[in-house]
Amino acid sequence: MDNSEIDELPLLPWMASRIPKRKALVTFVSDGMACPPEVETAMKDKPSRWYPEPGGHRVLILYEGGTYDSTTFRLEPEAWDHEDCNVCGRGITAMTLCHVTARGPYVALCKGCYRRYVLSKIGYWLFKLFGKKIK
Ligand SMILES: [Zn+2]
Repeated sequence: MDNSEIDELPLLPWMASRIPKRKALVTFVSDGMACPPEVETAMKDKPSRWYPEPGGHRVLILYEGGTYDSTTFRLEPEAWDHEDCNVCGRGITAMTLCHVTARGPYVALCKGCYRRYVLSKIGYWLFKLFGKKIK
């Protein structure tokens, strides 16, 4: 996220959230081999995480429904156990209070970044948009 995107965070529609653990498609990609095409396809437009393990990587792809290749992936109900704050990158543990966008492009912020980049900037944006100083 670049500085101009961070500056505009107060303009997004925010809601408090506690994101539960979510389903993920899980597979293993061995070191030294190209990413298999079925993994590439499953990752298209989906968040993925690569965890180094001996001999390769455990790959998780957020599962939001639909068919999947069960010869390549197994579905693990609670494998997606955190979100990453879109500003500081810190992990937001499942069911921890955070803020996410209610619509539009999905953005998740940890409590600290929400306070720093949204709450503390709202007065500035109200002044800029409406020309009144809000106290
Ligand atoms: Zn953060």
